[in-house]
Amino acid sequence: MTISLRSDISVSLDEVNLAGSDAKICKAARVSTLGSAAAGSGEARGLLNYLMKNRHGSPFEHGQMSFLVEAPIFVAREFMRHRAGWSYNETSGRYKELEPVFYVPKDSRPLVQEGKAGEYRFVAGTYEQYGITRWEHEQAYRTAWSAYQRMLKAGVAKEIARDVLPVGLFTSFYATCNPRSLMHFLSLRTKNTDATFPSFPQEEIEDVALAMEAAFASHFPLTWEVWDRNGRVAP
Ligand SMILES: Cc1cc2nc3c(=O)[nH]c(=O)nc-3n(C[C@H](O)[C@H](O)[C@H](O)COP(=O)(O)OP(=O)(O)OC[C@H]3O[C@@H](n4cnc5c(N)ncnc54)[C@H](O)[C@@H]3O)c2cc1C
Repeated sequence: MTISLRSDISVSLDEVNLAGSDAKICKAARVSTLGSAAAGSGEARGLLNYLMKNRHGSPFEHGQMSFLVEAPIFVAREFMRHRAGWSYNETSGRYKELEPVFYVPKDSRPLVQEGKAGEYRFVAGTYEQYGITRWEHEQAYRTAWSAYQRMLKAGVAKEIARDVLPVGLFTSFYATCNPRSLMHFLSLRTKNTDATFPSFPQEEIEDVALAMEAAFASHFPLTWEVWDRNGRVAP
């Protein structure tokens, strides 16, 4: 029985569904004082900075980014706690036979937790700890996948057979957001000690967040710049 082990988490921006720009955010803000004449205006770093600093957040909702994420179920579960300004669709374990693709931490992933809740530090594991981690993940995945397959072969419905699959199984989902909801997500799911409110997310969801931040910085460069400069607080 073959299973695939993956350490990479993939994030791709759906360019077709990309909408908005720094200029569009500025137009949305200026309609307040210019009326329809705002349509002819362009982007302005100073205006974006003013909006960010004073937490005038609604103009930053004019835009859309849609991402296709392939990640373990435990990452998807953390991700979908983000409710405001997000839309999701995910692969169904009721309608589709799932694929035997499972997550294993890469060798550079710190393995050992030190300190107490709220102040955890993660440090490298020993050679033995890396060995047992890889071995136990793989054995558990093989056992679970065999059980899933045996139930399917016996005619048990997919929605029941999937009960035995672990949170390390890969899933795929679309996540669509606007710049404001993305900034809130990034403020919580990236580590940055210079941020006004530093957060300490799990490494795997941070990998997803960093890929999204790169796409955000590329398509909304001035908005990203003023958000970063103002302490990475979503307006
Ligand atoms: C490091 C870290 C550790 C975490 N640990 C845990 C944990 O141990 N257990 C756990 O259950 N969760 C945990 N979470 C998840 C966390 O509690 C939030 O669910 C998640 O970060 C989403 O944040 P949010 O609710 O602000 O985002 P969103 O759901 O996107 O909401 C955005 C904003 O909208 C407003 N809003 C949304 N819904 C409501 C509402 N119903 N009422 C009022 N205002 C609303 C709030 O201002 C909110 O900040 C953790 C998150 C992080 C980053």
